Amino acid sequence: MNISDLGWNKFFEENFREFAAQGFIPARVSEEHKSNYRLFSDHGELSAEVSGKYRFSVESRGQFPAVGDWVAIAHFPLEAKGIIHAVLPRKSVFERKVAGETTIEQVVAANVDMVFIICGLDLDYNIRRIERYLTLAWESGAMPVIVLNKADLCENIDERLAEVAAIAIGVPIHVTSAKDGTGFEIFQEYLKPGVTGAFLGSSGVGKSSIINKLIGTDYLPTQDVREFDSKGRHTTTSRQLILLQSGGIVIDTPGMKLLKLWGDDNGLKRVFEEIEELAELCKFRDCSHQGEPGCGVQAAIDDGRLAEDRYESYMKLRKEQKYLEAKQVMKASAVEKLRWRQISQFQKSFKKSNR
Ligand code: GDP
Ligand code: ZN
Repeated sequence: MNISDLGWNKFFEENFREFAAQGFIPARVSEEHKSNYRLFSDHGELSAEVSGKYRFSVESRGQFPAVGDWVAIAHFPLEAKGIIHAVLPRKSVFERKVAGETTIEQVVAANVDMVFIICGLDLDYNIRRIERYLTLAWESGAMPVIVLNKADLCENIDERLAEVAAIAIGVPIHVTSAKDGTGFEIFQEYLKPGVTGAFLGSSGVGKSSIINKLIGTDYLPTQDVREFDSKGRHTTTSRQLILLQSGGIVIDTPGMKLLKLWGDDNGLKRVFEEIEELAELCKFRDCSHQGEPGCGVQAAIDDGRLAEDRYESYMKLRKEQKYLEAKQVMKASAVEKLRWRQISQFQKSFKKSNR
């Protein structure tokens, strides 16, 4: 195992200098289990935790290490262990906002170079959804590639290609079939040694099938690998950062699958376009669609134009969104403060390392 095969490059090297000077070594997070991490390093696989000092200095959950992160560790070779002292700046990040008592940003993957947006060319095909995933990809900092899978089930591929090309200007679009392997050479072309890829897409589009085919085993369907921990109890672990035989790296964390639930207000409007249209008919402009007179949404449910479960998922998402927005406003000033502190800290350490 060699860190350049793991995606180590000039960008991380630059940012690591000050830590190298302190005797730390770099490692990449391959799994995250609450406060326990698995790392890949020049010294093989290690288990790790964050140092107490780091734990106390972090101000948001997003600053904790996540799968794909490069970290600076103190290495204890005899125990195959490391203590994480810092997380290097991320080149890209997929983040999920979780509504709870406080809004939590959960990093579900870091330092992804290429993100494959997978769509099924079968009944699941949905152009608005592709748009939404594209937005997500651009926001992350990773390069999007659109993959239209299940080519074997589609008769009008050229038509589909033209439709997608119209909304995804400048984004490469490819056609694959995980069933018969059509088009699979593109994954190798993108996932060169040291390049990290991740997969986005709704459930059922073929992500696991594609990843399995790339690994060459049926690993993912039995995603949970049972292991015994030191106390002899069963624990479930799952591989989250996978090194491919061909040299590329694939990140596949459970959180990636949940990314679709979150989007900005525009995202919500797009995904529930027909409901937003019905809402235009509501008598009151601020109608909550919960029993007000003259509600266009309720009327559509009553006469069967709108499915009840679709209405419910819309309301659920909207509620979550409103809640997050309120939290965001409260947090904005705190975040701003933190950002300035980080900048001044960075400048200090930068000056130090240039002395
Ligand atoms: P995921 O939820 O995105 O991980 O989707 P899966 O990989 O679990 O695939 C969902 C279903 O679609 C499975 O029954 C697969 O066998 C099937 N499937 C995946 N890719 C293809 C494909 O290219 N062609 C066909 N015909 N079926 C596929
Ligand atoms: Zn209404």
